[in-house]
Amino acid sequence: MNTVLRAAWLFDGTADTLMPDPTVILDGGTITAVGTALPVPAGATVVDLGAATLLPGLVDTHVHLAFDASADPVGNLAARDDAEALTAMTAAARHAARGGVTTVRDLGDRGYGSLLVRAAAAADPTLPTVVAAGPPITSPGGHCHYLGGAVDGVDGVRAAVRERADRGVDVIKIMASGGNLTPGSLPEVSQFGPDELRAAVTEAHRLGLPVTAHAHGTQAVADALAAGVDGLEHVSFMSADGVDPIPDAVLAAIVGQRVAIGMTVGFVPVPGFAPPPAVLSRLPLMIAGLGRMHAAGAVMTAGTDAGIGPVKPHDVLRSAVAQLAQIGMTPAAALRAATSVAATTCGLGRRKGRLVPGYDADVLAVDGDPLRDPGALHRIRAVYVRGVALDGAALSR
Ligand SMILES: [Zn+2]
Repeated sequence: MNTVLRAAWLFDGTADTLMPDPTVILDGGTITAVGTALPVPAGATVVDLGAATLLPGLVDTHVHLAFDASADPVGNLAARDDAEALTAMTAAARHAARGGVTTVRDLGDRGYGSLLVRAAAAADPTLPTVVAAGPPITSPGGHCHYLGGAVDGVDGVRAAVRERADRGVDVIKIMASGGNLTPGSLPEVSQFGPDELRAAVTEAHRLGLPVTAHAHGTQAVADALAAGVDGLEHVSFMSADGVDPIPDAVLAAIVGQRVAIGMTVGFVPVPGFAPPPAVLSRLPLMIAGLGRMHAAGAVMTAGTDAGIGPVKPHDVLRSAVAQLAQIGMTPAAALRAATSVAATTCGLGRRKGRLVPGYDADVLAVDGDPLRDPGALHRIRAVYVRGVALDGAALSR
C-alpha cells in the first residue's frame, strides 16, 4: 500500500536548507523513497500538498502524559483512578499527534501508565510512538514523590532501576534535585548524592537502559555528570537567590560526554498564566546559560515538559521551535533539536526524526517555509503517524 506525498519543499531532519519539489513515497509505515520527480508506483495513492513543506514528525524528549495541562495537573491526577488516568493519558497522546508531535518520551507517570499508552499505540495510528520511563525515581517526600517512585539510599535506587527494567521501560528518569512542581521541594537542593546517582547509572547501563536526570542546582548537575548520565533535564543552574554561572568544568563535561540537554523550552501564551515568580525572575539568566551550552556545542533538545500547566499543552513543541532563536539557534538547528537530535536522544535515531528511506513514515506537512517563518509550524496541513494520515478535521491549527 503505497502513498506518494508531493509538496513544494522538504526539511529532511538534518540539512540547513530545504529540498525543492519533493516526492516522498511511503509503503505502509515506512518511507521507501525521497527525491524529486520520482515515478509513482502502480496503484499508489498520490497526495499533492501543493505549497506545503514536509518535515519529519516532531519528537518531544520530555512530556508527562499523566499531567493534563490544566492549572492543577497534580490535583487532577490524584483525583483520577488508574483507568481514568489512562483515558486522560491516551487523550493527551492523541492531542500531541494532532499537533505534529509523532513521538513523545514520557519522563514521569504514575503506575507505569505510559507503558500502556505505548502498547496501545502499536495498534492505534492516531497515537504517537511513546518512549516511557515509568514513575521517576525520587527521594522520600522529594520532587514528584506522589507519582510513587520514592526510594532511599543506594540499595533503594538500585532496586528501583531493576523494577523499571523488569517492567520494560525504555529509559530511567531520576530526580537529582528538587523541582518547582512539588511544595517543600527546592530546585537548588540535591535529592541524591554521588553514590546514589552512580548506582542508578551503573545498574541502568548494566541492564541496557539510558538514564536522564532532572537537575536544577549546580551540585546536582555536576554529580549527575560525574555519575555518567546520558541526559539532563532542565539544567537551569538555579541557586537559592538566582542562577549560578556554569562552571567551566561542568560545561566541558556536558559537551565532552555528549550528554543530551533537555531545555524545557516551549510555551503557548495563555492569559492569566505565567511561569512561577521564582522562574520568571531567573529566566534571562537561564536562557543565557542555555545559549552558552549551545554555543559550546552541547547536544540540545527542546524537551518541553508538556502537560505541567496550561502554557504547556501536549502539542507545545512546535511553539518551542521559534522560541529557540532566543538561545542563538538558527531555524534549521531548532528544527533539528525537535526532530533528528531529539530522536537520537530517545534512542530512535535510526527510525525517527528524518525523512529518508528506511525511516518510519512520520510526516508533518505545514503551509509555508519554516526556515523563514517559524509560524508556519502552526499551519498544519497534514500529519502522518507511521504511514497513516490523521483526520484533517482533527488537526491542531
Ligand atoms: Zn518533567
